[in-house]
Amino acid sequence: MTTSMRYADGEFDRAAEWREDADWLAARLTASTTKVYPIWRHRFSFEENHAPVALAPAAAGTLGEVGQAVLLGLIDDVAHFTLDVSELSEDGLDRDVAGSTHDLRDVAMHLNDQMAAVLAFGRGMSVWHGDHQCCGRCGADTRAERAGHARRCLNPDCGRLHFPRTDPAVITLVIDGERCLLAKRATINIPRFSTVAGFVEPGETLEDAVRREVAEEVGVKTGAVMYRASQPWPFPSSLMMGFWARATETLIKVDGEEISEAAWFTRQDIVRAVAADEIILPPEDSISRRLVEDWRNLPEGTLIEGLE
Ligand SMILES: [Zn+2]
Repeated sequence: MTTSMRYADGEFDRAAEWREDADWLAARLTASTTKVYPIWRHRFSFEENHAPVALAPAAAGTLGEVGQAVLLGLIDDVAHFTLDVSELSEDGLDRDVAGSTHDLRDVAMHLNDQMAAVLAFGRGMSVWHGDHQCCGRCGADTRAERAGHARRCLNPDCGRLHFPRTDPAVITLVIDGERCLLAKRATINIPRFSTVAGFVEPGETLEDAVRREVAEEVGVKTGAVMYRASQPWPFPSSLMMGFWARATETLIKVDGEEISEAAWFTRQDIVRAVAADEIILPPEDSISRRLVEDWRNLPEGTLIEGLE
């Protein structure tokens, strides 16, 4: 592995053992050292130097219900929370919170590994809370508990406890000897050529999902599948599981809906096409880029154990 994995490398303490300790939480939610990151419609606020805006609990309490803040974890014994302030108007946000709001992806490459991971966690939790205001079983309202790591249905006849979820997705670089397959999504207006990705279906293994997605999107058949790495991807709610897969039949036939164009590239083809502005590689914060770069960094002729 050659580059850091954005959103994944923060070895911060998730403090799971404190999520149900009311006294500990109350103490942390009054401590002036505690950092509360306001999150507004899934966007955090950042200073001009890209530092995320963090408030002490007392200040955060003027913006929303601090008791509903989500505990993200501890860094050097300082508790970090997010507080959803989406109900503020845009003017109210501008007035009450310093800095300007950005989606995490727009500033992620300016953050250190730990902060990128903390905020990714916060973004994922914010999406989950936003999408689970009502019980999926009975439709009644739900309310956060366990420091934001569960939501309970308020209907006493139901009372179901809902836990945060993440959607598994596979993302694959298809390899054929000294070539790899890169594909352009139909909805993107720039020549960004990337790996193939899709959601895992119920009743499907990761390997089957890889082979199905590759066949569906670019018509190529694959055999051996090798797990490489995973990346939390809270845009909005995925866990990306990255693979290399070996092509067994190489004729490309794009589906025309998700993928508009795909081609085989040698390492030199990629260098030339990037230099000529014919293609743009996947964004630097993505596991897609990592899957491509890790393959590109192998010396030509390398036999990839497990793929041959
Ligand atoms: Zn319910």
